[in-house]
Amino acid sequence: MVVENLAEVEKKICAACERAGRRRDEVTLIAVSKTKPISMIEELLPGGTRDFGENKVQELCEKYEQLPKDIRWHLIGHLQRNKVKYAVDKACLIHSVDSLRLAQAISEEGVKRQITVPILIEVNVAGEESKFGVSPEETESLVQNIAKLPAVSIQGLMTIAPFVAEPEENRTYFTNLKKLCVDIKNKNIDNVSMSVLSMGMTGDYEVAIEEGATMIRVGTGIFGERNYS
Ligand SMILES: *Cc1c(COP(=O)(O)O)cnc(C)c1O
Repeated sequence: MVVENLAEVEKKICAACERAGRRRDEVTLIAVSKTKPISMIEELLPGGTRDFGENKVQELCEKYEQLPKDIRWHLIGHLQRNKVKYAVDKACLIHSVDSLRLAQAISEEGVKRQITVPILIEVNVAGEESKFGVSPEETESLVQNIAKLPAVSIQGLMTIAPFVAEPEENRTYFTNLKKLCVDIKNKNIDNVSMSVLSMGMTGDYEVAIEEGATMIRVGTGIFGERNYS
């Protein structure tokens, strides 16, 4: 089932790339495996899928231990400062940095280990109360401040768009995030590449691709509904 689902998603990604005049290799599909068993992840490995997303540090660490080391684990959920030490050497990219304090904790851990930790800045595009992320207005100044830290490198921006019935409703948010990304990139800040735009989930990844996403995070569309009970 998982393999078939992935093939369906893949088809839609290709179609969206084509509509947008983009190459397929400009978009990385992250299979969001949170709450799902190791066995489901293993079903996707023979086909070449290596980018997986988890939103909890503990779950990421457990799966990291049990699965092949060439998997790229993306930490996409809110990160607490006291968990940073477990995440920095296992996640290939931390998508959810939304404060200077968190970035400082990550950088301190990076310095200790003599590594540079790649991060994205999470932006709350719609100003939803329930969501983490910095406001679009405050994003550039946060980037400027985080860029001064010695052991993090800002690769781009991430957002979790509102949960909507019609993906079109999120198009403006994606367009705006792309624009924000380009604006910041054009400032040529040291330590800031702004080459990654992580946006689009099961409900809206096609629209996100059309608006410039370079990473999409798809869970339900590949692994089915999650059961939190
Ligand atoms: C769970 C999650 C996803 C995947 O959501 P689906 O709607 O199941 O595709 C993507 N991004 C983040 C940050 C998530 O927490």
